Amino acid sequence: MTEIAFTTAAFNQFLAEHKLMASRCVECGALALPPRAICVACHGDRLEWVEMVGKGKLAAFTWIYVGPTFMNAEGFSRTNPYCTGIVELDEGVKISARLLGVDPKNPGAIKIGTPMTVEFLERGAGEEKRTFLAFRAE
Ligand SMILES: [Zn+2]
Repeated sequence: MTEIAFTTAAFNQFLAEHKLMASRCVECGALALPPRAICVACHGDRLEWVEMVGKGKLAAFTWIYVGPTFMNAEGFSRTNPYCTGIVELDEGVKISARLLGVDPKNPGAIKIGTPMTVEFLERGAGEEKRTFLAFRAE
């Protein structure tokens, strides 16, 4: 297999293939998500790609009322906020992502520790097509 550099571009390419990929240090086994070219634990540079199962728990969340242009284009606004958060995967690493299956208008109903499952959101078409990482509350 050809070595794929541990870059954001490669991470995004895997997302487009509906794979959530982390880097794992060959020396100490530490995971990094998004991937890093240097181990966050031992600073080693022998890394490998490893696919995450895509299950985890909600660790933190927030509401976005004023989002980037592409989110406004999806209809989100001050009166229709969306939710992002940090999900701690079963593998032990944390990643920020859009949150689905939660009601941004009822923040009190969302609980830290809620089981979450990965989803891949396709937006745009052709050259503009991008895949965004999201997690849906179970
Ligand atoms: Zn390491």
